[in-house]
Amino acid sequence: TPPHPLVDVRADFPGVAGRGDRVYLDSAATAQRPEAVIAAEAGFTRSDYAAVHRGSSMATGEATFAFETAREKVAAFVGAGEREIVWAENATDALNLVAGGLSDASRGLGGERLAIGEGDEILVTEAEHHANLIPWQRLARRTGATLRWVPVDDRGLWTVDDLRARLSPRTALVAFSHVSNVTGLIAPVADIAAAARDVGALTVLDACQSAPHLPLDLGALGVDFAAFSAHKMLGPTGIGVLYGRAELLDELPPARTGGSAITTVTMEDAEFLPSPHRFEAGTQPVTQAVGFGAAVDYLTRLDMRDVRAHGAELAGRLVDAVSAVPGVRLVGPRPGEDRAALASFVVDGVHAHDVGQFLDDRGITVRTGHHCAQPLHRRLGTAATTRASAYVYTAPDDVDALGSALGEVRAFFGADR
Ligand code: PMP
Repeated sequence: TPPHPLVDVRADFPGVAGRGDRVYLDSAATAQRPEAVIAAEAGFTRSDYAAVHRGSSMATGEATFAFETAREKVAAFVGAGEREIVWAENATDALNLVAGGLSDASRGLGGERLAIGEGDEILVTEAEHHANLIPWQRLARRTGATLRWVPVDDRGLWTVDDLRARLSPRTALVAFSHVSNVTGLIAPVADIAAAARDVGALTVLDACQSAPHLPLDLGALGVDFAAFSAHKMLGPTGIGVLYGRAELLDELPPARTGGSAITTVTMEDAEFLPSPHRFEAGTQPVTQAVGFGAAVDYLTRLDMRDVRAHGAELAGRLVDAVSAVPGVRLVGPRPGEDRAALASFVVDGVHAHDVGQFLDDRGITVRTGHHCAQPLHRRLGTAATTRASAYVYTAPDDVDALGSALGEVRAFFGADR
């Protein structure tokens, strides 16, 4: 096998290099961490740990500096200003912060310009992860707005034309994923953001599967809000980001409130700090922020253009491996079409969970199930798919191992007769 551009990085990942022959093809669920991230978290915990933005001690000052430096790094990584990066627990939490804030705005709790109500429409796609669907269902229920969606086809794909056809002056918000965690479809974000802006709608981008894999410039893409999680991009669990354009974040009511996020509090009311701190009530995930900063440093050193090239190469290899097996149906873009570094598929006559168990017995970790996208799977006509996903430490050999194991799976379960 020819060496691939990032092959050297495997040694940096104890979760990959330290597991012998095991093949990890579940990075779309969560990514392994490099030593640099593990060391940053441990080093901070040993020497600099303290609460941030509280009190005036030297320890707090140093921890706050590390915390805010991490924010600057993440902001630069995605083309945002520091005030536009709000720490959240994960992408799910970030999306709930937007939906909850818009719900509050609709009830007269601030941010009147952002209020949504009866007659308004919220537009999503049928391919969304539940994290980018259920908060909008709830927002529609709370405000009397109508939830509409762009349908997907037999392969789980939707088109910008179908999305455009559903935009109107009634559209208040368009929420969609940059990269689908099931099909790997990459959406033309800038076009959609411009079309939404033309009808006066806000855009919310689920960037969970794009921030790890594509060079991302949220400012240039022109979306209003975006969400992503550190744990899918070489960072720790427990921290994610809500991105918002600064003027919108300063208006959006904070859906979670408490200490640290305020200026003045009386017994009747509270005034909130400007963004990002107005959203960051409570003791913050400081160690996780430091680890996240180290993760984006690491990705920046690799160069996101190389990360993307590596991902595209492995995507092609995954697609070829899966399509070569008789009786295996690939979902998502066709072979040769652009997609992110993942492939989901259905094995005729074998349940995805059996496929997953069969692969696991051969040392190959994949993900099976509905991948938090039940409506999409319903449309695909299956309760579950098997998903193999790659990242910077994935080698061509890993994909080849999957391909040869898949070649045996139908015979093993007697499904080839
Ligand atoms: N959206 C997409 C597209 C995802 O892949 C995921 C993670 N599976 C999420 C949202 C939710 O991310 P988290 O669980 O980190 O909040």
